[in-house]
Amino acid sequence: MTLNRRMNMFHTADPKEIINGKITDVYFDRTLKILKAKGLNPIVRGEFIAKNLPEKWPWAIFAGLEEAMYLMKHLPIRVRAMKEGSVFYPYEPVMEIEGRYQDFCVYETAILGLICQASGIATKAARFKKLAGNNLIASFGARRMHPLLAPMIERNAYIGGCDGVAVVKSGELIGEDPMGTMPHALIICFGSTVEALKAYDDVLEPKIKRVALIDTFLDEKFECLNVAEALGRKLFAVRFDTPSSRRGNFYRILEECRWELDMRGYSHIKFYVSGGIKEEDIQDLNPIVNGYGIGTSISNAPVVDYAMDIMEVEGEPKAKRGKWSGSKRVLSCRKCGERKTIPNDKKRYLCSCGRKFYDILIPVLEKGKYLIRLEQPSKIRKGVLDSIKPLPLE
Ligand SMILES: [Zn+2]
Repeated sequence: MTLNRRMNMFHTADPKEIINGKITDVYFDRTLKILKAKGLNPIVRGEFIAKNLPEKWPWAIFAGLEEAMYLMKHLPIRVRAMKEGSVFYPYEPVMEIEGRYQDFCVYETAILGLICQASGIATKAARFKKLAGNNLIASFGARRMHPLLAPMIERNAYIGGCDGVAVVKSGELIGEDPMGTMPHALIICFGSTVEALKAYDDVLEPKIKRVALIDTFLDEKFECLNVAEALGRKLFAVRFDTPSSRRGNFYRILEECRWELDMRGYSHIKFYVSGGIKEEDIQDLNPIVNGYGIGTSISNAPVVDYAMDIMEVEGEPKAKRGKWSGSKRVLSCRKCGERKTIPNDKKRYLCSCGRKFYDILIPVLEKGKYLIRLEQPSKIRKGVLDSIKPLPLE
C-alpha cells in the first residue's frame, strides 16, 4: 500500500510555518485580506489577559515568554511583558504588543498557544512543589503528550518548580541531568526485581542513584526487604508505582514498608511514589514520602485562558465590551506585595506601606531587538519558588 504524504509524517507544524504565520485561525487570514484591500492598517495596542484562572487558582505563573519572543522578534512590533516566571492575577495584563495591526494579526493564535499552555504547566508544577515542600517533584508526564512538545512541557514544569525532568532532550534544554529510576520492563526482562536491580547496579555509572521499583511481581513490603538486603547501603530509594487497583490504603502500605525497613536498619532508604498522583494526594503522603514522579497532572495541566484584546487604536483607548480600554501598567510593592493595575502614565507611585511601587510589565522587545536578558531556567525556577512562598494555594 502506498502512503500519501500526510500519512508519512508527524502531524505537526514545521517551526518555519509558525514564523510565517501559517498556524493561524483562518478568520485572521481573512481579516488581513480585507484590511489590505481597504487600505486600513491602524497602529494598535493589544494586551494579553486572563479574566479567570482554571481550577479556582488564586494566582498563576506567566510562562512561555522566551518562545513567544522568539516568534515575535520576527515582527516589527514593540512588546512589554512580565518577566517569565512572574506571579500574576486575573485581569492583570501579562503582555502588551504595539504595532500596525496588519503586521501581527495572523500571529495571535500562535502567540496565545505559546503562553497559554506553558503558563498552565508552570503553574501546576509550582502548586505541586509548594505542596511537597522539601520533598522532590519530578516531571514524568512526557509520555502523555505529543513527543514534539516534550521539551517545552518539561522546561515549563521545571521553571514552575519541578526538581527534575525525565526526558533526555528536556534535560539538555534546561541544562540539568534528566532524572529516572527503572521501568517495569527491565524487571520483567530479568524475571526478578532483585536480579534487575543487581544488573542496574552493575552496569550504570556510580553517579546514578540506585532506586529500585518494587511493585512489579511481589508485595511491596517483601520486595522492599529483598532489594534492601541485595544492595544494602548502596540502595538510595525505592519507588512505589503500585497500581491503583491494588492500592487499598496507599499510606498504610508505605507506612508498613517504612516500619519494616527501619526495623532492620534500612532507614536511609528513601521513598518515591508515582502513578496518577494528584495535588490532593500530596498532603496525605508528604509525611512518609521523599519524592514524587508526577505525570499527567503536570504535563496535561489546564491551560491559562489568556485572550488578546485590542485596547488602544491610534493612541485612543478603545476596547470591546467586558475589557478595560487603554494601555496599562502593573505595579507591585517589593515590601508588602501589594499590586495595582493603572493607566499607562509616567508617574511614580507609593504603596500604602510607604515603599515605592515598581513596574512589572516592562519593555522586552522592540522591532526584533531584545530589551531584556533572558534568564537560565534554573534562575527562573528559583524566582518562582521565592515568589510563591507567601502565597496561598486556594
Ligand atoms: Zn507595600
